[in-house]
Amino acid sequence: MTIRASRKKIDEIAAHIRACRLCAETPEGATLPHEPRPVLRVSSSARLLLASQAPGNLVNQTGVPFNDPSGDRLRDWMGVDRETFYDVSRIAIVPMGFCFPGNDAAGGDLPPRPECRPRWHDSLFAALPQIETVVAIGRYAQDYHFARLGHALPRGASVSEIVARWREFENASPLIFPLPHPSWRNSGWLKRNPWFEAEVLPALRAEVARLVKT
Ligand code: SF4
Repeated sequence: MTIRASRKKIDEIAAHIRACRLCAETPEGATLPHEPRPVLRVSSSARLLLASQAPGNLVNQTGVPFNDPSGDRLRDWMGVDRETFYDVSRIAIVPMGFCFPGNDAAGGDLPPRPECRPRWHDSLFAALPQIETVVAIGRYAQDYHFARLGHALPRGASVSEIVARWREFENASPLIFPLPHPSWRNSGWLKRNPWFEAEVLPALRAEVARLVKT
C-alpha cells in the first residue's frame, strides 16, 4: 500500500469511528449516558502508539486526551513536551474505549465500553502497520495489545506483575512497554515500586526519543 493509500485508509476509518453512535443507538447493555464523542489521534506516520483505557469526563468535554495532571505525569515519564506529545504525525493515541463511558455509583470512571473493541480496534490497527512501539497503559490496553501481538498474558496477572515483566518485551516487534495508569491514584504504587522510575522510565524515554526525533 502506498503512503497516500495508507493515509486515505486511516482517515476513512478514523472518520467512521468519530461518527460512531453504537453505544447510544444499539448498545449491548445500558445506553451511553451522554452523546458519543469518540476521541483518538492517528496518522500514517506515527511510529509510537499510546494505548490507553478510555476518556474521562474532562477529555469528553474538550476532546483532548491526557490534557490533565495524568497527562503531565505521562509526558514526564516519556520525556516529551506538550508540542511533541500532541504531534499526531509522531505519536498516536488510541484508547480501548473511544468515548467517555460515564461514572459508577462511587463516582469513578466505568470501564471502557465493550462495544468498542470488537467494532473498531482490529480494523484500525490493521491500518497502522508502521507502529514500532506500543505503550500499553493499564490492564484493558495490556490485555488487548499483548494478545493482538501474540503475547497473551496470564489470567489474573496484576498490572504490577505485567509491568514488572517489561524486559521480556523490549525486543518484541512491535516493542511493548506496559505502564500503570499515570493517575494520582497510583502515586502510592510508584512509591512502593521504585524500580519503575529507576529502570523502566529511562528505557521508555530512550525509546520515545528514538521514535519522535525529527
Ligand atoms: S464507545 Fe466506541 S462503540 Fe461506543 S459509541 Fe463510542 S466509538 Fe462507538
